[in-house]
Amino acid sequence: MISVQNLHKKFGAFSAVDGASLEIATGSITGLIGPNGAGKTTLFNVIAGRLPASSGKVFMAGEDITGLPPHELFHKGLLRTFQIAHEFGSMTVRENLMMVPENQAGETLWNTWFSRGRVAEEERRIRDQADEVLDFLTISHLADEKAANISGGQKKLLELGRTMMVDAKIVFLDEVGAGVNRTLLNTIGDAIVRLNKERGYTFCVIEHDMDFIARLCDPVICMAEGKVLAQGTVDEVKNDERVIEAYLGT
Ligand code: ADP
Repeated sequence: MISVQNLHKKFGAFSAVDGASLEIATGSITGLIGPNGAGKTTLFNVIAGRLPASSGKVFMAGEDITGLPPHELFHKGLLRTFQIAHEFGSMTVRENLMMVPENQAGETLWNTWFSRGRVAEEERRIRDQADEVLDFLTISHLADEKAANISGGQKKLLELGRTMMVDAKIVFLDEVGAGVNRTLLNTIGDAIVRLNKERGYTFCVIEHDMDFIARLCDPVICMAEGKVLAQGTVDEVKNDERVIEAYLGT
């Protein structure tokens, strides 16, 4: 699905990503681990079009997508989740889902004035879709809650839910487990597995919680100092001497 080839990202003279090459197989839940500062988030940002690469290439299903802006990647089904932004906190959980699909009929003034029926119908369809997503994620009871008021873990579920409002092919998840309690983390893990199995999503997941990685991810890729150090099953990577050394060194 994704092939990253000899990618470099420099900030001034400093190489945050320093010649990383990796593959994310279609249908996999690939884990990305590594000590703090390894370049994982920067790599995500370059792949997802948030930062320009200094050099190197990114391919999606064989097509060169290096440097494409996020909205073009979105249309190709490549999504990177983000924390629910501050300005969306005042909207309800359901509204946060409903605003994801683009080109809704109600978005043009013409339609708002002259095609009220069509706008209402489309809004109903999107609302139903949002409610199905909430049901899938077992958070229907939060539909009318302001997003700002839900817990960190529930926000993570909502982020995942936003990817379900469009035709995602590959989703990049950054630190799903940060500050999330164990029960919710299991719910998030279940949702990821179901999206993978039932809807064919490919995932690439940055996570520090090794239990979470072990439960979900195969393969696991370990980065350090901007490079890919090792790749394999969780056990292979955990027992790799270069990986142990990289973690001990921090
Ligand atoms: P990780 O996600 O593995 O913890 P990051 O990709 O966040 O690593 O960071 C890799 C390195 O790049 C770190 O040393 C970080 O300080 C540096 N870095 C990240 N973003 C910037 C930036 N915008 N400007 C300068 N340095 C940055």
